[in-house]
Amino acid sequence: METVQCDSCHSDQTVFDRTATQSIALQPPYAVVSCRNCGLAFMNPRMTAEEYRNFYASKEYLNEYGYEDLLVTSRIREFNRALDQIEQRQRPPGRLLDVGTATGEFLVEAKKRGWTVSGTEISDSSVTIAKEKHQLDIFHGWLDQAPFSKHSFDIIHLSHVLEHVPSPQTMLKTIASFLKPTGLVVVEVPHEFDNWFVRLGRSLGRFQPSTHPSMHHVYFFTPRTLDDALRRAGFLAEVTTYSLNVPYRTLPPPLRMLGRLATEIIDRLNGGIYIQAFARPMTEQPE
Ligand SMILES: [Zn+2]
Repeated sequence: METVQCDSCHSDQTVFDRTATQSIALQPPYAVVSCRNCGLAFMNPRMTAEEYRNFYASKEYLNEYGYEDLLVTSRIREFNRALDQIEQRQRPPGRLLDVGTATGEFLVEAKKRGWTVSGTEISDSSVTIAKEKHQLDIFHGWLDQAPFSKHSFDIIHLSHVLEHVPSPQTMLKTIASFLKPTGLVVVEVPHEFDNWFVRLGRSLGRFQPSTHPSMHHVYFFTPRTLDDALRRAGFLAEVTTYSLNVPYRTLPPPLRMLGRLATEIIDRLNGGIYIQAFARPMTEQPE
């Protein structure tokens, strides 16, 4: 276990967030806190890097979050949506890197569209699946150890990665070193406690807190704190939220239209379930 200061602004002044801590069933001493200075929410204290390595290698984690099936069945559409949005800003050909690519399905879709693809992944079994199933040569390890040339990528994509790492600032700075000065970074993270569907569920008394402690997220971004983290790492970002079809797909048909409309409005007001940022390096670094 370790105690840390705020990754974005280095303040050690924090406020305990009881609602967030309870909603992911954290047991003391683990807790969700938010920085008094910049508002970033994070787990503190938390497991050490060594403890996280063992945690991610454990059978319980893989059983509980066996993401291969989840990826294949439900996320292909989400990946193509992200690729459409990338290509509205920058067209292939070019070099695209997916950090934490798991079994490589995002890269398979990107390759079909003409991108030259690379990936990194810390899970040994995922790298093997990516190679055997998709013939992808994924770097097995952390991004800062990857043998890529400096400033060589046009696009760097991180989907549901930044909330897991010990220091988003360190990772974003490593990303800046691999990205071309004209390149684009695409970051997606969950909007965990503040999305409007959770808020609505709470106000209707229908929110079910998790019964099992959720230890795998270390950071809990909001659109504002993600934008702030990117700016501090030297990026200028457009930040939005989206919910895809998650909140209304289970509704009966007459309500589905209404659900879709409500979801679109909520997404526009930054209340959606996922946060997405498109960011480019600032020409002049802050500080
Ligand atoms: Zn802070």
